[in-house]
Amino acid sequence: MLTLAQILAATGGTLIHGRRAPGRFAGVSIDSRTLKRGNVFVAVRGKNLDGHRFIAQAVRKGASLLVVSKKVSGAKGVPVVLVKDTTVALGQIACAYRKNFDIPVIAITGSAGKTTTKDMIAAVLGSKLTVLKNERTLNNQYGVSLTVLGLKPDHEALVIELGTNNPGEIEWLAAIAQPTIAVLTNIGESHLAGLKNRMGVYKEKSAIFRGIGAKGYVIFNNDDPYLRRISGEKKHPRIITCGVERKSDLQARQIKVKNNRKMCFQVNGHGFILNTPAPCYVYNALAAIVCGRLLKISDRGIKKALEKLTFGSHRQQIREIRGVTVIDDTYNSNPVSVRTAIKTLDALTARGKKIFITADMLELGARSTPLHREKGRWIARSSADVAITVGKFSRHAAGSIRQGNRRIDVFHHDSVAGVSRRLKKLCQPGDIVLVKGSRGMRMERVVDFLHRHLNKKY
Ligand code: ADP
Repeated sequence: MLTLAQILAATGGTLIHGRRAPGRFAGVSIDSRTLKRGNVFVAVRGKNLDGHRFIAQAVRKGASLLVVSKKVSGAKGVPVVLVKDTTVALGQIACAYRKNFDIPVIAITGSAGKTTTKDMIAAVLGSKLTVLKNERTLNNQYGVSLTVLGLKPDHEALVIELGTNNPGEIEWLAAIAQPTIAVLTNIGESHLAGLKNRMGVYKEKSAIFRGIGAKGYVIFNNDDPYLRRISGEKKHPRIITCGVERKSDLQARQIKVKNNRKMCFQVNGHGFILNTPAPCYVYNALAAIVCGRLLKISDRGIKKALEKLTFGSHRQQIREIRGVTVIDDTYNSNPVSVRTAIKTLDALTARGKKIFITADMLELGARSTPLHREKGRWIARSSADVAITVGKFSRHAAGSIRQGNRRIDVFHHDSVAGVSRRLKKLCQPGDIVLVKGSRGMRMERVVDFLHRHLNKKY
């Protein structure tokens, strides 16, 4: 762990209380409720809470050092370091700590698929190495810093996702994580409120390379037109491309969906199987295969790890409820992940109807209305028999589905209650129902309704 001297050097802070304690600190915490004895407590100011309010509690629980950005009382005998900004200081401490570890660090960014790719890579590497990965979707400056600070001497690899809402965030997170392998999943219209357009998203996400050393590897999805620019930039000698449609270093071929539940594909003559019928997951698996091969895991080991893996909740999670196939994709929604949800629906075979339920995509700023119209045009070209749109922006999608394809029955609702009533009338055994987010729209309520309703009725 770090010493006080190292923390002072990393943050440029001043010791304003207590003595220069010898020895090392046991971990870093920003939450006084979960703080463990011996931890450094960094009093970050969040959106809702200010850590400075919990100094006394942190001290009571055994904090061994306090990092603050204003003078505080209640430190008792605990040393206090004053810094300008505690959130920045947390990143600086993590950055200094990371330098103690000469291990592969795989960082993943992109508009969709970060968490799934992180879990796949960690599963593959975990078949042979002791791996640390970020929990759930903890991919912002707090999550990344705390994950890095969770490294222990026995860890042999770190797999971490880097998320962004605003320009500059990825560069900072990459500086903290110092990846040796960078993975880019795709570039789509995500978080446009902060990143403006796809070019803005590309520029932001590709800042991940700035954290990478000359010996680092860059892995990306070659089917993505924005990411393909990377090959042309010639800045990165160690590029590995993955793809399905385009010729790539690792290209998945013969992709086949089995029984609406699994997917098989071949890479250079080796067969792989995934526990999902969602075609987009092949890209994530390709990145995991590259990482596995780079870290000397056998294809057999990679195949076994991928085959065992089940996917995160609300991410194209598929289950059968009384003869109805329900795909819960309510975790989030943006144009990239809506397109991939449609591809999943198209890849499945239904005895009955295919029902696609889609709610508003949020955080798209001024592009909200045109992107919802475009969403409608994609649905119009899909194999859906019924489309149910939810929310004020998705009304535009309903309009363009009606215009683009008269075969599809289109219903628009402003509330989940309306969707539930509609499904009561419509949904029958043999149907496939895909429910797409986004997070803010809490569409998991529709999936819960289907559970209750179908179990009662059939
Ligand atoms: P993120 O962490 O980037 O938000 P997740 O792995 O949580 O991504 O997946 C979020 C959504 O994106 C889900 O709907 C999932 O099905 C979809 N998705 C996963 N991987 C990909 C991919 N490679 N391309 C496009 N969409 C994807």
